[in-house]
Amino acid sequence: MKAEPTSGTKQPPDSSNVQLHADITAREESEEALHKAGALQSAIFNSANFSSIATDAKGIIQIFNVAAERMLGYTAAEVMNKIMPAELHDPQDGIARAEALSVEFGTPIAPGFDALVFKAARGIEAVYELTNVRKDGSRFPAMVSVTELREAEAAIIGYLFLGTDNTSRKQTEEALVKAALAAAELAAIQSAVSEAAIIVVTDLTGRIEQVNDNFVNISKYSREELIGQDHRLLNSGLHPKAFIRDLWLTITKGEVWRKDIRNRAKDGSLYWVDTTIAPVLNERGEPVKFIAVRFDITARKQAEQDLSEKARLLDLTQDAIIVRGTEGEIRYWNHGAAELYGWSREEALGKISHELLQTKFFVPVEEMLAELHRTNHWVGELIHTKRDGQRITVLVRKTLDRDSEGNPAAVLENISDITARKLAENALHLSAGLFSSLVEKAPYGMYVVDDQFRLQQVNARARPIFGNIQPLLGRDIAEIIKGFWGEEVGGRIADIFRHTLETGERYLSPSFTERRQDLDVQESYEWEAQRIILPDGRHAVVCYFADISERRALENSKAELAADLVRADRAKDEFLAMLAHELRNPLAPLRNAAEILQTPGASADEHDQAQRIIGRQIENMTRMIDDLLDVSRITEGKIELCRQPVALADILGAAASVARSGIAARRQELTISLPAEPIFLNADATRLDQVFGNLLGNACKYSDSGCHISLSAERAAGVEPPEVIVRVRDDGMGIAPELLPHIFDLFVQSTRSLDRAHGGLGIGLTLVQRLVKLHGGSVEARSEGLGCGSEFIVRLPILPGPVAVQPPPSAPAAPEILRRILIVDDNEDATNSMAMLQRHRGHETRTAFTGPEAVAAAAEFLPNVVLLDIGLPGMDGFEVARRLRAMPALADTFLVALTGYSSDEDRSRAREAGFDEYLVKPVDLDLLREWLRSRA
Ligand code: FAD
Repeated sequence: MKAEPTSGTKQPPDSSNVQLHADITAREESEEALHKAGALQSAIFNSANFSSIATDAKGIIQIFNVAAERMLGYTAAEVMNKIMPAELHDPQDGIARAEALSVEFGTPIAPGFDALVFKAARGIEAVYELTNVRKDGSRFPAMVSVTELREAEAAIIGYLFLGTDNTSRKQTEEALVKAALAAAELAAIQSAVSEAAIIVVTDLTGRIEQVNDNFVNISKYSREELIGQDHRLLNSGLHPKAFIRDLWLTITKGEVWRKDIRNRAKDGSLYWVDTTIAPVLNERGEPVKFIAVRFDITARKQAEQDLSEKARLLDLTQDAIIVRGTEGEIRYWNHGAAELYGWSREEALGKISHELLQTKFFVPVEEMLAELHRTNHWVGELIHTKRDGQRITVLVRKTLDRDSEGNPAAVLENISDITARKLAENALHLSAGLFSSLVEKAPYGMYVVDDQFRLQQVNARARPIFGNIQPLLGRDIAEIIKGFWGEEVGGRIADIFRHTLETGERYLSPSFTERRQDLDVQESYEWEAQRIILPDGRHAVVCYFADISERRALENSKAELAADLVRADRAKDEFLAMLAHELRNPLAPLRNAAEILQTPGASADEHDQAQRIIGRQIENMTRMIDDLLDVSRITEGKIELCRQPVALADILGAAASVARSGIAARRQELTISLPAEPIFLNADATRLDQVFGNLLGNACKYSDSGCHISLSAERAAGVEPPEVIVRVRDDGMGIAPELLPHIFDLFVQSTRSLDRAHGGLGIGLTLVQRLVKLHGGSVEARSEGLGCGSEFIVRLPILPGPVAVQPPPSAPAAPEILRRILIVDDNEDATNSMAMLQRHRGHETRTAFTGPEAVAAAAEFLPNVVLLDIGLPGMDGFEVARRLRAMPALADTFLVALTGYSSDEDRSRAREAGFDEYLVKPVDLDLLREWLRSRA
């Protein structure tokens, strides 16, 4: 059968006219009829709903009907004899089909036309779902049946492809699938909801028709007990009528009502359900039933109730309590927090706490967080800023709340405002600081003893008194003080403290000087005790004190000095009395001797005796005055030693020979023991004579008749530089122990009575000591006491080896040269007696008693020698000398100053005035004679 191409002008029959659903038999009959008429063929080809495409055996399109044109967008002319049907399908379909057929038939089948017609070519029904591609490239699903066209039922002459647009069917199928899925989903949801929720279905009056297991379980009623009942069965009576009314009003209006209901179970227990009641509406929107879906929220409600109970309680506390989430968001803000910071709960909730409060930390935030996470707690001080901008110091106790898995969930902060306390503390700290620095820097010692009698506080001044203070703090003060001052004194002080503590009476100590038992030193204090009140309200005793030991020592030394001065003054007075006595002493024998000389009947022997008396007394007085002058000169450093090598034996021998007469007179015994080897000193022999003469004289003077005196010398052993020890020892009256330390002091004598037998001024030993010292030696006095004798030990440096000692050149006695001598002195006796003496010696003399007289007498007399006193009336001796020197006639005149003054200054003035010599009164007449002799 060859398909005829349809004419485009032919109108297709109305689709409704095609009765595909007609009875098969009738159809076959009609077909037959139609076939016969050719009308069917034409109708099918021109059907608008079936695309009819016929190809030749090779697959080239030969027929392309109107429906095909409409479905695929090509005109018949565009495809006929040009393309194959495979080109009108998605090539992927062809590939898939080829693969499927290859598998089905177990032979490789190429995609494309072959695959399309593979089945048809074998007489097998081939209907495929293919994706057609329109001319414009759009696609649509199509059902395509492929039939082979055979000629005379033999060879295949082509194929017929009948196709329908499968789009709407596909869509219906998909919708059905979706609907089935939705139904399944709904069923699943229902089951899940039923599983999870408490479900009840009631009729319009609220009568229970259906309940699920959850309803049964929670209500504790059986299903049978529930069905047909009203919810009144469960009514707890805890909801007001208005609540139930609102429920009913809502659901009867056809709206959904949702609230939490509290019901009572069969056993009387209460439970909360989150209830949603939905009316089931008919097509007119009227409720026909009610479905209630509920969830058990008893635990949550309980928790909420607990929480609100806690919150209520937390609201009662004065402290601010904040709960913040892990991000810092405020979740709870109690009444206290609102009061403290000024933000209401509503304002604060949800805010970030540290932003709201402008938190300032005193410690690094990381440190705080680390501790909080480690221990779940943190306590510390922070600065917060209130709503009104005021900054406050708060003490915060943070507690970290963790969830069931241990992760941080929230932080509870318990906050108290400590601003006032801080301020008070600071003020206290400040004033305590000020107070303690005042106490520390007080210019006196201070320590505090508390009411338990314990040493509490000791300031800087007081600390040295206590020594190492640390172990003493907190110890019993009585114990400490007794350690310092001993049982008795310490006990007395402790009693005073106790009395002051009990009575509040202030105690002011009189001067306090005691020996510290622990240090063994004398200490003096001024102190007082007062009762004070400590900051904690208890009584205490504060002891203020000043260490006046130094002041006291100074006062004592001043007192000693004053006593020394008094002693010295007394010694001076005694000395002056003594001096007067000593100077007057020789006067009596002198006067007596003078009287004897004037007595006409006196024998030559008596004259001789009187003269010796006079000589001796004058010698005594001279020595006394020399000593006095020497002492003062040595004191003033005005004596210069005339040192030269000298043999010790010579010095001691000379001194002994001087002393010997006195010793002999008292019938004492002198023994001298000197080392065999000679000892030489570099010394002033005259001065050392004076030293040992004095010591021997004293030994004689202070020993009774018949006593023994020894003078010994020995080289000191093992002493460098070498020295000699000379001892003058006697077994006389000895030295009292109290006198011994002062024996070398000026004016000190063993006895001080004017009627004493020994005479002397008490300057001898002073002189001895000073002269020995001048020689680089020392002197020491020893005595076992009164009646035990004395020993004076002189140590002197000696020359190392034997020295050649030059004996003083003994000048041959020169013959007396007779001279004209002018003698000038305002003391007429002195003047006349001197003139008398000189005249006896053959000289020519003239006297003058004043300065002017002297000048006049000299001018006239033209003396060879003038003995001129310095202290003259009218013109002093210096002036007289200058005038005499001014006279050419007196150019060679020998001017000798005779004076009582013997200072160096006087001597140099004398030299300047023109004197040739300077002699101190009383003049040594032998010396004068020598001079007069030698001045040729
Ligand atoms: P009532 O004094 O009986 O009624 C209070 C007011 O509610 C009345 O004055 C009236 O204004 C209104 N009202 C009461 N009944 C009706 C009605 N039938 N139609 C219209 N208005 C009415 N109650 C519970 O206590 N617990 C529940 O869990 C609960 N679940 C319910 C679930 C569903 C699906 C429905 C429909 C009702 C439910 N009810 C529930 C309500 C319950 O049916 C009763 O109405 C209620 O328990 C009665 O409470 P009452 O005695 O305090 O109030």
